[in-house]
Amino acid sequence: MIITLRALAAEAETKWHADPDRLSKAIQIVEQKTSIYNQHCAPGEWDVRSQHNGWYHVDTKAHSCTCTDSQTGHVCKHRLAVWLHVQANIRSYAEVSRKPESQIMRELGYA
Ligand SMILES: [Zn+2]
Repeated sequence: MIITLRALAAEAETKWHADPDRLSKAIQIVEQKTSIYNQHCAPGEWDVRSQHNGWYHVDTKAHSCTCTDSQTGHVCKHRLAVWLHVQANIRSYAEVSRKPESQIMRELGYA
């Protein structure tokens, strides 16, 4: 991976004031590798394993997650985990394929 999760987390914190505590938990989720799936989801939607029990559903287009933290208006760790995961993949792919990030976003159903 060309860009590190910590560099992306720092970017999220600076750009849109993402909560540092939720960001560090989001990094843990992404680092677990078996915690984020989209094989059975519509484009832009993800299943994220709970750090306690079960799964949550994140919809990047609706900016939503099914967890209680998100229901109370916060940008939860699951949404942050999906953002980190997607950004890391898009940026690595952009670098390798030499395609613009915007084109990759379209190809993957994010734009
Ligand atoms: Zn959530």
